[in-house]
Amino acid sequence: MKKDIKVCRKCRVFVSGKQCAVCGESDLSSTWAGIAIVINPNKSEVSKKMGVDLPGKYALKVR
Ligand SMILES: [Zn+2]
Repeated sequence: MKKDIKVCRKCRVFVSGKQCAVCGESDLSSTWAGIAIVINPNKSEVSKKMGVDLPGKYALKVR
């Protein structure tokens, strides 16, 4: 399966386009593993670990 879905290296959010909508970086990676969907960042243990404070779809690991 071809992975052409890109993830921001800085905040690990899934990006559709050439720039990250969260931090504005264009440092994207298509080498990632795992998906975490954060709905409620303040209550989520995963988002605390990842340092995420916006709801959205994130990759667990990004290279
Ligand atoms: Zn970003």
